Amino acid sequence: MIPIVTGEGGAPVRVDPNTLMLETKTRYEVGYKNHNFNEYASDLISVQRTVPDFKPQECSHNDYRSSVTLQPASIIMCFYNEAWSALLRSVHSVLDRSPPHLLNELILVDDFSDAEHLKTKLDQYMAKYPKVKILRMPQREGLVRARLKGVEMAQAPILIFLDSHVECAEGWMEPLIYEVSKNSTVAVTPIIDIIDKDSMAIVQAVESIGVVDLRQMTFTWSRLTPRIQRLRGSAGRPYMSPTMAGGLFAINKEFFQQLGTWDPGLVLWGGENLELSFKLWMCGGAILIHPCSRVSHIFRDKSPYLKNNVDRIVKGNAARVAEVWLDDYKRFFFHREAYSANTYGDVSGRKQLRHVLACHSFQWYVDNVYPELFIDGTGKHYGHIKSSTGLCLIFKDGAKRELILSAECANAELWQTSKSKEIRYISTCLEQYQSHVFASPCDSQEYSQAFEVSAQGDQVAILHVPTGLCLSAIEMDRTGTVALAPCLYGDTRQVWKFKKNPLPL
Ligand code: UDP
Ligand code: MN
Repeated sequence: MIPIVTGEGGAPVRVDPNTLMLETKTRYEVGYKNHNFNEYASDLISVQRTVPDFKPQECSHNDYRSSVTLQPASIIMCFYNEAWSALLRSVHSVLDRSPPHLLNELILVDDFSDAEHLKTKLDQYMAKYPKVKILRMPQREGLVRARLKGVEMAQAPILIFLDSHVECAEGWMEPLIYEVSKNSTVAVTPIIDIIDKDSMAIVQAVESIGVVDLRQMTFTWSRLTPRIQRLRGSAGRPYMSPTMAGGLFAINKEFFQQLGTWDPGLVLWGGENLELSFKLWMCGGAILIHPCSRVSHIFRDKSPYLKNNVDRIVKGNAARVAEVWLDDYKRFFFHREAYSANTYGDVSGRKQLRHVLACHSFQWYVDNVYPELFIDGTGKHYGHIKSSTGLCLIFKDGAKRELILSAECANAELWQTSKSKEIRYISTCLEQYQSHVFASPCDSQEYSQAFEVSAQGDQVAILHVPTGLCLSAIEMDRTGTVALAPCLYGDTRQVWKFKKNPLPL
């Protein structure tokens, strides 16, 4: 027999469907259709493959045994029609890479799957592993209520939630357990590395924080801000995050229950991560991301089971969370999403919970947890940035992220200022480098991304604050670029049109 070496160490598995025989090709296509990832490639890889070690070197200095008594954990992994090999690889990575004395049990919650392989075949396979317990939902409940069933059954003081298509790396568990054992009011997530949905390659994720787009009420990733970097200190330390992705985290069970777990009114998928994130911060807890804990996850662009009714459900969940947690900030969401009260049900119980827990206001959260919060459309200045000759500032979204001046203003970005002194378009910011200006991902860089717009009538000067240099147009024949130059009063190259925001703030 040929040993399976495919995909070892997180290497990519490339399958060219055109080389497959008809029957295999059909399997390949059905795999994609059912899961939106390459199940065929996943099936070629050992369910106990090795994975790369992406921990920062500094992690080797952490001693998780000293000073804190580590508490054991129950792991809760929900699945709905998961691919056999992906589920098994998730389970084995937990069993093989968790210290036995810290792993109390692994509870698999079957959210009423209909796939045949997840029935008797799964029971028989898992019978060899006494720590694995299978809980079957009598009807499809969605991930919140399925996870909550797992919580009811869990015996250990710490809960760890995982998705059913993950691979835990060596040492993934100790940092999570350590932080929660030390402080029962923090929820800790691993860094979620990326399993490529097509090749199953494991790719290192950049260190990011979780944030929220209040306009859409969606979770997004953002760059670590300098403020959070400073708070964290060394690269082997966990750092705070305003929100969490939601699928993979550890929490003290009792604290989680005190917080009222998740809103059981959230259906199928979505919203629960933001609800828990706001609740954690606003009601006496915190969210940490630990760079020494690494779990990779298959990210896919769309969900295989959210079909026609997806928008209504996901937005309905978001509306429940906005209504309960955002106070006045909810207008930024409801401004675009017209909801009548009955589209998302009764939230009075959740409001009562917030009251009983005596949680902080959302304004407190913004001020203390995420002062860098940016809400699209709320900048003091908003619109095209135009040179005195009428050319508009545009960025070319290539690798160089170059800024150009163009007469084609119809396609130009609508820029806006932010209270963190950025000039941004969605999450792209003007960034200074020497005397150059580029378009980079925003991260509230106090040095390179801090700009000030000073108005002189309907014209403005755009100043890079730390260097004191002014944004200057370099034009030739109705096109051009920009650079930073010493500010010269009356120099038309430094005169811009950038209007006051006409939108309701
Ligand atoms: N899941 C579930 N019931 C559902 C939807 C999802 O048990 O109705 C499980 C799913 O199998 C997965 C986890 O919940 O293990 C999170 O879902 P998914 O991975 O689709 O979300 P994503 O990671 O794409 O946000
Ligand atoms: Mn997932």
